[in-house]
Amino acid sequence: MAEKMTPGRDTVLSLGVARFLSWASLLFILLSSLAISVTISNSAQKTILRKQQEFAQQFAENLNHQIYQRYTVPRYLGVRGITLFNFPIGEGNRNNLLLSANRLEPLDQIVQTTVHNLQVTSLKIYNYHTETIYSLSTTTESDKETASSIARVRATNKPEFKLESAIPFWKALFTIHLPQRSFIMRAIYPMSTENRLISYENEGSELDILEFSEDITEEYRAIIGFQWIIIATTMVSSAILFILLLLLIRKAEKMLRERLAEQQRLERELNQHEKLAGMGRVVSSIAHEIRNPLGIIRSSAELLLRRIPPGDVTYSLLSAIHDESKRLSQTVTDFLDYARPRTPSLTPVDLCVLIEQARVFLQSAFKERDVAFEIHCPGNMTVAGDKDLLYRAIYNIITNALQAMGSSGTLQVDVFKKDGHVILEFTDSGPGFDPAVKDRILDPFFTTKDDGTGLGLPIVQSIITSHNGALELENVPGGARVRVTLNALEN
Ligand code: ADP
Repeated sequence: MAEKMTPGRDTVLSLGVARFLSWASLLFILLSSLAISVTISNSAQKTILRKQQEFAQQFAENLNHQIYQRYTVPRYLGVRGITLFNFPIGEGNRNNLLLSANRLEPLDQIVQTTVHNLQVTSLKIYNYHTETIYSLSTTTESDKETASSIARVRATNKPEFKLESAIPFWKALFTIHLPQRSFIMRAIYPMSTENRLISYENEGSELDILEFSEDITEEYRAIIGFQWIIIATTMVSSAILFILLLLLIRKAEKMLRERLAEQQRLERELNQHEKLAGMGRVVSSIAHEIRNPLGIIRSSAELLLRRIPPGDVTYSLLSAIHDESKRLSQTVTDFLDYARPRTPSLTPVDLCVLIEQARVFLQSAFKERDVAFEIHCPGNMTVAGDKDLLYRAIYNIITNALQAMGSSGTLQVDVFKKDGHVILEFTDSGPGFDPAVKDRILDPFFTTKDDGTGLGLPIVQSIITSHNGALELENVPGGARVRVTLNALEN
């Protein structure tokens, strides 16, 4: 008894696992792409901020240098009345100082020319002792935070740069028209870095801290645009992946469902076959048991028929017993051949010889029905096969053709080799296979004849299959054709 299969549960389980894995990988791809896009845009943001800081630093250095050279030094020299020639400085510097001392430029002019064309929104220059002395912005007030930053820069003498945003970055991400001054870079720069000649504390220079703000909203707009490009690219590629995965899942599901249905069908068939096989075994043993008594009945009737004159009443009764027992015996033999097929014992078999044997054996039947038998067999059509079984198959096909043709006709047998196969074609001039029942012709016990067993062709098929061959039935103009393909035995 075959072991019971449980394909349904396993398949459903693997289907669920496949679906879970697909969705999990989709989620993983989405999350990782999102993480990558955030990382990339963060690093872009950092790079731009660093660049802006560097730029602010350069700007502060430059402005500080300009103020120092064109304002602080000349003013200091002018106020103190110091003779320039007392300074132990190089020739070039001396001339510069001399020039500057003579031309005292207003601070405003120096700042304006340096700031010119830059995105500086406010600029203040602080005095060490007093309050703001110069401001480009409308207000000279400093907030608490800036005031403490200024104090820190005064103490440490190190510049400070700070990003001030009027709107959180995530909000800016969804703002279509980001207003100006949304992101500001504020710099607080110690002017004493330029102080080579004058000490602020001791000599009383007025300027010590430079504070300015730069509008970097434009740069942020670029970052946001870049971020959206990354997000859009991620979304599109994720969407494509999602659709592909979805299609794959659907396809896998369809395949698994089909396989499940096929497995269930096979399971049903197997159960049915098991039942039939059990019944077949019982029926086979019964058939086997009745074959011997049947043989005795037939041979006894034959013996008696020889002794009784043909005109006697008993004669016709005996001949009916003889014919029926013969037919029953044939049915039992056919059934046993089909139900318990023999394993073929393979030897080299020339099919031309077997066909010739069948022709000789059925010669009188052909003559009786006025059917011509044409054989085209060039010889040496050898296969590795069971001689008895192959003869049985050939015999069944020929007798079927003979019965189909009725009183006259032609049966043509063509044997030839093709692609390593020996092909036998039996073409008769009968009515052909009835298209209405063609699908059932190979079913066991299917017959259209009154005295048929319906086992002739199933036996042929079982023999040919056991030789790894193929059996084909087709209608051709003017009759039926049975084609048998067997593996040729190469010499
Ligand atoms: P049986 O000969 O006992 O009927 P088979 O299995 O040999 O059983 O054949 C099944 C059916 O196939 C036949 O009843 C017949 O209808 C059809 N058949 C077989 N051979 C031919 C043929 N050469 N031409 C037309 N019909 C055929």
